[in-house]
Amino acid sequence: MKYKKIIDKMTLEEKASLMSGKDFWQSQNIDRLGIPSMFLADGPHGVRKQAAAADHLGLNESIPATCFPTAATVANSWNVELVENMGKYLGKEAVAQKVNVLLGPGINMKRNPLCGRNFEYYSEDPYLAGKMAAGLIRGIQLNGISACVKHFAVNNQEERRMVIDTIVDERTLREIYLTAFEIAVKEGKTKTVMSSYNMLNGTHTNENIHLMRDILRDEWGFDGVVVTDWGGNNDRVAGLLAGNELEMPTTDGETDKEIVEAIKSGKIQEEVLDECVDRLLDLIFTTEKVFEKPHIDFDTKEHHQMAQKVAEESIILLKNEGNILPLKKDAKVAVIGDFAEEARYQGAGSSIVNPTILNHTLDCLDESGIKAIGFEPGFERYGKKNKKKIDKACELASRADVVLLYIGLDEVTEAEGLDRENMKIPENQVELLHAIYEVNRNIVVVLSCGSAVEMPWIDRVKGLVHGYLSGQAGAKAVLNVLSGKVNPSGKLAESYPIRYEDTPSFHHFPGKEVSVEYREGPYIGYRYYDTADIPVLFPFGYGLSYTTFAYDDLKVSRKGVTFNITNTGNHAGSEIAQLYVGCKSETIFRPKKELKGFKKVYLQPGETKEVTISFDDKTFRYFNVKTNQWEIEDAEYEIMIGASSVDIRLNGNLHVEGTAAPVPYEKEKLPSYYSGKVSNVSLEEFEHLIGRKVPDPNWDRSKPLGYNDTIAQCQYAKGGFARFAFHLIKFAHWFLRKIGKRSTANLIIMSVYHMPFRGVSRMTGGMINMPMLDGLLMIVNGHFFKGLNYFLKQRKLMLKEKSSLTRETDAVKEM
Ligand code: BGC
Repeated sequence: MKYKKIIDKMTLEEKASLMSGKDFWQSQNIDRLGIPSMFLADGPHGVRKQAAAADHLGLNESIPATCFPTAATVANSWNVELVENMGKYLGKEAVAQKVNVLLGPGINMKRNPLCGRNFEYYSEDPYLAGKMAAGLIRGIQLNGISACVKHFAVNNQEERRMVIDTIVDERTLREIYLTAFEIAVKEGKTKTVMSSYNMLNGTHTNENIHLMRDILRDEWGFDGVVVTDWGGNNDRVAGLLAGNELEMPTTDGETDKEIVEAIKSGKIQEEVLDECVDRLLDLIFTTEKVFEKPHIDFDTKEHHQMAQKVAEESIILLKNEGNILPLKKDAKVAVIGDFAEEARYQGAGSSIVNPTILNHTLDCLDESGIKAIGFEPGFERYGKKNKKKIDKACELASRADVVLLYIGLDEVTEAEGLDRENMKIPENQVELLHAIYEVNRNIVVVLSCGSAVEMPWIDRVKGLVHGYLSGQAGAKAVLNVLSGKVNPSGKLAESYPIRYEDTPSFHHFPGKEVSVEYREGPYIGYRYYDTADIPVLFPFGYGLSYTTFAYDDLKVSRKGVTFNITNTGNHAGSEIAQLYVGCKSETIFRPKKELKGFKKVYLQPGETKEVTISFDDKTFRYFNVKTNQWEIEDAEYEIMIGASSVDIRLNGNLHVEGTAAPVPYEKEKLPSYYSGKVSNVSLEEFEHLIGRKVPDPNWDRSKPLGYNDTIAQCQYAKGGFARFAFHLIKFAHWFLRKIGKRSTANLIIMSVYHMPFRGVSRMTGGMINMPMLDGLLMIVNGHFFKGLNYFLKQRKLMLKEKSSLTRETDAVKEM
């Protein structure tokens, strides 16, 4: 142990006290031993340090910081170097704000387009997400502080996120849901990992020995700190055993006592705690060092420019019929859409940043050189169809050569804690588009949203520029693409299905009451569409440029591939070349092709560059559930170089020697997995894949409600009071939506409705302790007076204990 000397001086209580927060954002300090507290702050695309009122939902404002494009946006750049650079800037701001641990990046897979937090995640592909994350982490940590990769793991939905049990087979877990984390740990060397709220195959991730010890620590060699997601601790002692150092936020010492008791009673060895303390001290001391240097502030303007650069590289040109873009110099342009006036640039929830500067399209038009003849909002962001606004917009559009139509999703629709209800953009925006089409056919849509949407209106537009959620400088960056100052070079990091019904997890998202079954196995995103031959609107890896590229001369060796790319057009520009690998053998089922490498190259018109992409340990591996390790199948592999996942430009073959592992499957029992047609896998086949019966996905309505039951379950509670409270909550939600207060209504769902009872205690910083919660549960379960009595008695006890503690501390201070 590195800090044995200090640990030896600690009392058991002191050690345990370090295992949970001192308040909402800080870890505990022990002054007599010179142990400072460290500050943890969100987040993934900007620092959200709250100076006063603290919350994990993005409700209260934080100190201004640069709002960079969100992860879903940055991923479209496919530029690891750029993202590393962005990390450096982020880290610098964190240091300036005295933040030891920056809570990001979030790298969960986009299993389904409706996940409310997709805007905060990189991709549907683990390799791309992992590489981007590793870059960001390296950049952040170069500043001497720690990044915190989250949410480990399989947290792919917001619905019932604190209790949902994810049922997934081991191979899919490893290949799809853990690979990005593996890369973040091994290549990014993240110092901190945040465990997720959900359960994995029946155990909370934070207590899951297989995930936290076998895989994270033993296999990947992670020696940093695991922090719980805020309020995510279930059983503190079980968490500690699995290697969870820090529980956040504070529980006012309640769970520290559980640790002390567990050690005193011999339930766990003190060494387990010592090891956790040692790792936590390492994180505190190493990150604290940077603050010894003189304080350096950051240059707001320079950071804003960096945010713009990242946005410019991440914007995607999805359609450009008749080369409507870049806009002709003298074109008369009508700017329409509420988003042009008030930029949509980030998502809602804990990642929300209070930007230092904020560009809006209308304010930047003059500088862009675009000849705008006027602006009309055209629709109400949160409202219904507005005929007057549409008419005005159409009048303006009728006088223009080109219409720039700014549409997308609003802030309330894409939010942490809540999945989207559908894949559509609001109806009033689509109606506007149709109305404009009647008066002007030269429509260029500028789309702002952090996740995939359906576009049944796509034929009505000639140009489509997708800015995603491009941060505080995004509006300017988009204008630069429209005007041609910047040649777009982003490519999609996720597939755009034609209809939501086409998605592989359509029938199993967000699962039933207790669990969500990942019946589609490894076939998520393009892995599914490609293998099952389902046409998509825009494939993974797709994006246009103002120039064109030609690929030739592929050479495949044991080490990797080399090939040439030539810029065959008239603009300088960047191309993202993608390496996909497919296995020709059908012995072990797998997607038709999988991304195994990529490179972004910048080329002048007419220029040719040789590109090399090396193979690595992930190129040919698959996880064998029989040997319980990574293996390679002895087979012929197809090596494909694509401009997207469906636009394969060069093909080669390679025979790879295998590891001679036994075949783990009985082919005839897994027909859907072998064909890739997994949209409706039967229960029987899924159970065969995972090798056991799946748990009952329905709530057991006969049992009394307990810590891990949610407030939503109060509808079935024995206690009339609980049922009444439930209906009151439902009514409040319905009423708030009715009067247009959607964001407050959302809050009810995310922080009340789906909250497990344990959260009532974990999230209130010790105001309601577990014995008090027991009283509440008695009320819920039909023992109103007994429960109330118990609750009040426990409250009294708690207050008494607290006041005697305060007296003791005051006495120590006076000594
Ligand atoms: C989110 C985390 C975030 C934490 C602290 C949680 O609700 O899931 O991503 O870092 O709050 O704000």
